[in-house]
Amino acid sequence: MVIIMDVNAPQENVEKVKEKIFAVGCKPHIIVGSQKLAIGLTGPTEAIDEEEFQLMDFVEEVLRVSKKYKLVSREVKSEDSIIQFGEHSIGGKELGIIAGPCSVENRDQIFTIAGKLKEMGINFFRAGAYKPRSSPYSFQGLKEKGLQILAEAKKEFDIKIVTEAMDSDTLDIVAEVADVVQIGARNMQNYSLLEKCGKIKKPVLLKRGMAATVEDLLMSAEYIVSNGNFNVILCERGIKTFETYTRNTLDLNAVPVIKKHTHLPIIVDPSHGIGIWEKVPAMSMAAVAAGADGLIIEVHHDPEHAMSDGYQSLTPKTFKKLLEKLEQLAPIVDKELKLLCEK
Ligand code: PEP
Ligand code: MN
Repeated sequence: MVIIMDVNAPQENVEKVKEKIFAVGCKPHIIVGSQKLAIGLTGPTEAIDEEEFQLMDFVEEVLRVSKKYKLVSREVKSEDSIIQFGEHSIGGKELGIIAGPCSVENRDQIFTIAGKLKEMGINFFRAGAYKPRSSPYSFQGLKEKGLQILAEAKKEFDIKIVTEAMDSDTLDIVAEVADVVQIGARNMQNYSLLEKCGKIKKPVLLKRGMAATVEDLLMSAEYIVSNGNFNVILCERGIKTFETYTRNTLDLNAVPVIKKHTHLPIIVDPSHGIGIWEKVPAMSMAAVAAGADGLIIEVHHDPEHAMSDGYQSLTPKTFKKLLEKLEQLAPIVDKELKLLCEK
């Protein structure tokens, strides 16, 4: 259920509605739009008599939300959510580009790649300190040492760090360094971790599970939002299908469909989506054409010697070429690529 009020409603009226919501055993969630203020209700809403709220004269409308996810749905908030990072944003007009290697390998590697990306005007840097690997014998990441290197790079290059948290035990230390906490595909349905992500103060990048439907993804986002963190960025990263010529099948259908059902931003990971570096530029362009709010792309200065995912990593040179094309494509889909690079 959602209660609609004017965005300029006096705080005391908002408080009155909140009190009533608590009194009926539900939890209020305030969602501020440009014209309207929505108060989403979670909890045992079926038993509520809508009239109780409708009769309050400052309540404009009471809506029942039919979906299994509520706070993330467009029914509750029709405008796109924009996640602001200083002068940059993910969602809205700006095309958000997150780039960097799969893993933190050492300080030199991170400083080399971050330096090259920063020169190109990239502001969001990705690299995993905790790595979820299919084999227990593969490189598992530098863990705390990796976070330390990322913290140093953040200071040196003034970049926003996007890095993965793999479990509840390490979520807080990851969130200290990260500007965006990534929840990987394998953890998309780790509900206790998602609940904990709802309580942190950093935006969360939630990747779609490899066998998860769009509805599953939106319900997972709801776990985070209903626990108090509205700053969720969704990510399509490819799903498992019968196809073997590519690592995954990048489901670009999901982009416009997700845009229809939720106000949250959706970005695309073409690197994991196709898994072949030569094909990453084509799928990046396709993702932007489909309406994605941004891209997360693996870039490594020496892909042949990368400790993970080298075969799907662009070099800084090939990545720069792609950026130049994206700069031309962005205005066609009403987006803007805000790069500070000198060409
Ligand atoms: C990654 O981003 O390096 C990663 C492990 O992604 P995913 O969870 O999508 O497999
Ligand atoms: Mn990777």
